[in-house]
This record gives sequence, C-alpha cells and structure tokens, in this order.
Amino acid sequence: MNKNSADVVIIGAGIVGASVAYHLALRGCTDVLILEKAEAPITGSTSFSAGGVRHEFEREVNIRLSKYSIEHLKNFNEEVGGHAGLNLTGYLFLINKEDVWAEFQEQAKLQRSLGVKVEMLEPRDVLHYVPGTRLDDLVGAIFGVEDGFCDPYGIASGYLKRARELGVRIALSTAVTGAQVQGDRLITVETSSGPVSGKYVVNACGAWSGQVASLFGVDLPVLPYRRNAYMTENFPQFPNPIPLTFDVESGFWMRKEHDRVLFGMVNPAETPRVNLNVDWDWMPEVLEAGIYRFPLLGETRLAKKQCWAGLYEISPDHMPILGRHPEMPNYLDASGFSGHGVMHSPATGMLIAEEILDGRAHSINIDELRITRFRDMSLQKEANIY
Ligand SMILES: Cc1cc2nc3c(=O)[nH]c(=O)nc-3n(C[C@H](O)[C@H](O)[C@H](O)COP(=O)(O)OP(=O)(O)OC[C@H]3O[C@@H](n4cnc5c(N)ncnc54)[C@H](O)[C@@H]3O)c2cc1C
Repeated sequence: MNKNSADVVIIGAGIVGASVAYHLALRGCTDVLILEKAEAPITGSTSFSAGGVRHEFEREVNIRLSKYSIEHLKNFNEEVGGHAGLNLTGYLFLINKEDVWAEFQEQAKLQRSLGVKVEMLEPRDVLHYVPGTRLDDLVGAIFGVEDGFCDPYGIASGYLKRARELGVRIALSTAVTGAQVQGDRLITVETSSGPVSGKYVVNACGAWSGQVASLFGVDLPVLPYRRNAYMTENFPQFPNPIPLTFDVESGFWMRKEHDRVLFGMVNPAETPRVNLNVDWDWMPEVLEAGIYRFPLLGETRLAKKQCWAGLYEISPDHMPILGRHPEMPNYLDASGFSGHGVMHSPATGMLIAEEILDGRAHSINIDELRITRFRDMSLQKEANIY
C-alpha cells in the first residue's frame, strides 16, 4: 500500500466520507484513503448538526434513504461500534393551514405505504407531547413515531474507527487543491501534501463539495448556507424528552438537549458563504416565532456560550446529489444533502459502495439523485426541508 495512491480516494472526513469508507471496507475494499484538510476528522458540518433523524419527506427516495439509515442506526453500536446515541423521541409537525394539512396527510399515505409509522393527531393531542402549546390556530399535527435524534459525532467516529481497523487510511491536514484529468478519467488529485492517485475519487466535502468539484472541472451546484442552533439554560417546564417539534408555518424547531432546549429557524435572507458566526441579529425573530407557538418559552434564558452556527450544503432542489459522474465515471458525488446528511449518511455509504463495487447502486434506486437531473429545467423540489 502506498500513501500516495489508493483504489478509492475519499475527500472529506465527515459523517458521509466516514460512512462511505466503512461500507467499502466492510465489503472487502480496504485500499481506501481519506483526505481531510483539517488537522482532525469530523470538524465540518457533522460536528454542528442537531442530529435529527426522520422519515417524513415528500419524495419517496428520501423516505427510503431515511428508512435504511434509521434501521441501521438502531443496531449501530453492536454492528459498527461507537455510539449512535439514537433517541426515538419522535418528530412532531404542527400545522396551521388547511392546504398544508392536506399535503401532509397525502404525504403520510405515501410514507405509510413504505412502512413508516406516522400518526395524524388532533391539535389537542399535541399537549400530551409539548405542554402549553398554542392550539387555537392549529388544524392538525403529524407525529413520526420512529424518528428522533442521534449523536452525529459518535456515528462518524464509530464509522472511522471500524474503517481504520479494516485497513482504511486517513491523511489529515491534507487539502485537495487541484486535479489532473485525462480524457474522461480523474487520474490524480493534487493536495497540499503532494499528488494522490485513485482508481475512484469520492467527493464527500459537504458544504465545500461544490468548490472541490470545480477543481476537477465539475459543475456541482452545492452551496454553503449558515444555520444557527440556539440553546437555553435548563428548562424543566418542558419534559425531557419532547419530540423534535416543528412549527411548520414559521419553520421554528426545537428539541430537548438534556435539560436545555435546543432550537432554531432558517433565516431566509442568508446568502451562500462560509460563515460560522452565530447570527444574534436573527435571534429575536426566532424567539418571537417560538414564543408565539410555545408561550412557555418566554420564561427561558439563553445560554449564549452553548449556541453555535454551522453550514448546510444546499442543492437547487434540496435533494442529495449521489453517484458516478456521467462524463467522468471514476468521480462520484456524495453531497447536496441540504441539511439532512447525518440522517442519510448510513444509506449514502452503502449506496456509494455499490456504485463503486457493483457498477451501480441497486439497494435503492438513486437515478433521480444523479447530477444529470440538473439538465432538466423543471426540477421537483423536496418540500419538507427546514
Ligand atoms: C445547525 C445545523 C443543524 C443540522 N441539523 C441536522 C439534522 O438535524 N439532521 C441531519 O441529518 N443533518 C443536519 N445538519 C446537516 C448535517 O450536519 C450535514 O448534512 C452533514 O454533517 C454533512 O456531512 P458531510 O460529511 O457531508 O460534511 P462535513 O461534516 O462538513 O464533512 C466534510 C469534510 O470535508 C472536508 N473538506 C472540505 N474541503 C476539503 C478539501 N479541499 N480537501 C480535503 N478535505 C476537505 C471538511 O474539512 C470536512 O471535514 C445540520 C447542520 C447544521 C449546520
């Protein structure tokens, strides 16, 4: 084995790169080298995630990615090792408009047909989960029984540890800076530590994947957008746990983190750039939306030092971009998760391993996730992205 070459070169040591490495090694493909620009693994978006896992998507392929992934996480500690920290506290979607309620009910039919346990609740049932919720303008709620949250760092480090035991290598402080392409093949990846050649190259660079793809002459429409996670001081007024709860109209979400409340809401004015500073100017609007729906939150105190910001890796249709590139078949994308890369990382690792070892992913049909879809001007967006 040579430190400057490998059968498979994976760029990025976050949860996605780690899962791809593990799934390849598990199938006997152990000549795998992970290149990571940071001094340590798992320092990108994975370490800033809220760790939510859910099945309630509009698009069937997303539901299938969740189903495989959440099942896998249930047995993660025994099968992979490490700490998945899976808490199946449920997801609760609060809906205040008749047309949105009709859409969610329609989606629930599809989810149920795929074996997802999803319940439709009357507004008054919500109080069973989140005391003090404002109900007067709610028309219904959806409860995802087998959803919840996990430990993204524990999962990524579990994958990496097992992959390394199986022979996978990792080169830290090694930034990919360019590439040599010959015809339709990516021959050599240039790095800050010298050239590295691979029979296959996987781009698992999360929010940076668009930038890295451009080094290879690939136009990958993935951009970095800041997302904030705010934390309160201990707040026993809400029981622990509560479901990961979304007020669908505003986009306000919250869950318990031990005795504290972790919460957030997307700022639609955010522009694409790498910005990891917490947005304090946005904070009052987030709190206003939160207190409107959950008046008890007016009694909380913010734990400023426990708040953080990280990056979502947004694609134009909020869907992952997976698989071999049609014009450069030894280059593969594994990004564009649009804020759902933790929950979809187990399935992604399995599918990318199939793309490489079997020629094509087959456990789940990922054709609608391939980069070729951007040639089509009428993209179908995933609706349930927050
Ligand atoms: C506030 C917040 C909340 C979130 N909540 C959830 C949630 O509830 N559920 C969920 O599923 N997801 C959530 N996400 C999204 C989730 O964190 C990401 O989708 C996921 O971590 C992506 O993993 P990744 O491995 O692709 O990327 P990353 O973890 O970012 O890893 C990419 C790696 O690539 C490396 N890299 C970049 N450029 C180069 C280069 N040139 N050379 C070498 N290495 C490079 C980076 O250093 C990094 O280590 C959240 C994100 C944020 C910010």
